Amino acid sequence: DLLVVGSANADLVVAVDRRPAAGETVLGSDLATHPGGKGANQAVAAARLGATTGLLARVGDDPYGRLLLDTQRASGVDTSGVLVGGAPTGVALITVDPSGDNSIVVSPGANARLTPDDLRAAGELLAAARVVSLQLEIPLDTVAEAVATARRAGTRVVLNPSPPAPLPVDTLAACDLLVVNEHEARFLLRDDPAAAEGTPEAWAKALLTRGPRSVVVTLGAAGALAAQGDGTAVRIPSPRVRAVDTTGAGDAFTGALAWRLGAGDDLAEAVRFAVKVGAAAVTRPGAQESYPTAAEVAAL
Ligand code: ADP
Repeated sequence: DLLVVGSANADLVVAVDRRPAAGETVLGSDLATHPGGKGANQAVAAARLGATTGLLARVGDDPYGRLLLDTQRASGVDTSGVLVGGAPTGVALITVDPSGDNSIVVSPGANARLTPDDLRAAGELLAAARVVSLQLEIPLDTVAEAVATARRAGTRVVLNPSPPAPLPVDTLAACDLLVVNEHEARFLLRDDPAAAEGTPEAWAKALLTRGPRSVVVTLGAAGALAAQGDGTAVRIPSPRVRAVDTTGAGDAFTGALAWRLGAGDDLAEAVRFAVKVGAAAVTRPGAQESYPTAAEVAAL
């Protein structure tokens, strides 16, 4: 039902007392290796909730690629759309200091080699899905090709423009749903300072003029705003939880939201479900490891 087109990374995490300056070496903790990448995260989030989910991505022919494939399959994701080889698996090199601040270097690796041709070859997967969900950790021209192909096939398109990048206007206009946080909203509205300085309602209104059918703005602990082309906008609060680690909460939210929209929920219903998924994800450490089952969401 849901096809996620996006990135898959191995997150390599080391705790340090302080970051090294140029030319310096510091000792850190044992290395922790976690499956990550926004695409892989969204797919695992939806599959764990019970969605029939596929991932279209590229990983390297190496141990990290196998780790990512294994965790996708263990979560129930169909990995027949995952291409292997061409470059090493993408990695995020993460140091965490005692105050909890991260410094991250991302090596896109195989993610950068997911090409528009790869997408053309996967046209059937895009056409067979009810909804396709994308982010921007793969090349922009690949995202544009996926959006155009999905649209022609009548497949709904959900886009989370993260990390923020200049999107072709046609791509933005072809989305059924744009999902942004505050940072992404302000980036997309960088040519409209008056709107960018306004409220989330003002961001959504301005973004709707760019053509997407609907816009959701995530608001962290405050939940999310759901806005539609007919002018309706509602704020949907998140359940109150004790936040332990917000890593990957946005990906869990968007994966859940895309699935529920494809399953026929209206936008507000789908967002009401997704805020619970996001809230559950922040109550446990990690990204994919923190994602809830449907029963855990129902208990919130
Ligand atoms: P991003 O991580 O992309 O910036 P947000 O921080 O807005 O996205 O989080 C996405 C969703 O996760 C929110 O809409 C909300 O449902 C949930 N969430 C995030 N942080 C919290 C929190 N502290 N308490 C409850 N829910 C949260």
